[in-house]
Amino acid sequence: TGILYLAIGNTSLYREVETYLPAGTRLITLESGGEAEILAKIADCHIVVAGTIKLSRAMIQAAPALQLVVHQGVGYHDTLDVAALDERGIPIAITPDGTPTTVSEHAIMLMLTACRHTAFADKELRDGRYHVNALRLKSRTLSGSVVGIIGMGRIGKATAARLRGWGVTCLYTDPVPLSPDDEILLNARRVDLDTLLSASDIVSLHVPLTDQTRAMIDAPRLARMKAGSILVNTSRGPVVDESALIDALRIGHLGAAGLDVFEREPFSEGNPLAELPNTVLTPHIAAATRDTFKHKMSGVFNNIARHLEG
Ligand code: NAD
Repeated sequence: TGILYLAIGNTSLYREVETYLPAGTRLITLESGGEAEILAKIADCHIVVAGTIKLSRAMIQAAPALQLVVHQGVGYHDTLDVAALDERGIPIAITPDGTPTTVSEHAIMLMLTACRHTAFADKELRDGRYHVNALRLKSRTLSGSVVGIIGMGRIGKATAARLRGWGVTCLYTDPVPLSPDDEILLNARRVDLDTLLSASDIVSLHVPLTDQTRAMIDAPRLARMKAGSILVNTSRGPVVDESALIDALRIGHLGAAGLDVFEREPFSEGNPLAELPNTVLTPHIAAATRDTFKHKMSGVFNNIARHLEG
């Protein structure tokens, strides 16, 4: 059984992962990740393991033997052509375990880095500038602040749970309310989106990318956010109108932004976000720790083994 893994490289980590491979299967990885390479390699594959590289309708059509797609993680709506898979009756398996821990850690790291301007401070220090006082004045404390969580699913909850220890007040918005017990456990209060935006010192996004959430944080909503507040996005880039965000950061309405995801990925050279001193940027790595990768890949291969066993 041929398994195409939509990821570039054949690093030692991937070789380690091969130890999880079910008997009788063969793992194929990518060299360039270009469409032509995928179309050629997918032709005789039975299973595709998908991550951040898009699996398009054309690729699905080029795979007559395709039986199963396993998504590494949970956010598959924007990376897999779900309609094309549905038409063929090809199931999608996900591997939700591990991700909430890693992504929530990353979100809180971005909150702290944005609060304390540590990415900027580090760069300044390395460049020989040591003006600590100016940074001190701009910095703010996470403890005691109001954090608004948009999307209280697995990652939103993991973030709220970790923030409990920081003495923050947690607000959240989600069409699905938490149970009263969970609200107490997570110390979180449900409010509408506009209230959350105007009351929070830090807003953290944890929604999937759907027709409803695309550009949900647009210019009017950014204007609603508190002056000097912080936006953290570890969900999907297009949830935020990036040019409106750049404007809000430029004029200083927002104090800072911590972003792991962008409107266009990979992050394009010349993106004005990189020129702003009040941003901290990471290349879509919120879930990508060594521990979570191994955890997720064992989940992927468990799903494959269960599929092969029928
Ligand atoms: P989840 O499905 O458990 O939670 C999503 C929550 O968002 C749900 O509770 C849902 O009701 C809520 N929601 C949907 N539409 C909403 C709206 N319009 N307003 C408010 N809430 C809304 O998913 P999860 O596991 O918590 O993951 C959330 C997202 O994080 C994923 O869809 C993915 O896009 C992203 N993600 C990013 C990374 C990364 O590397 N940066 C890694 C994993 C996941």
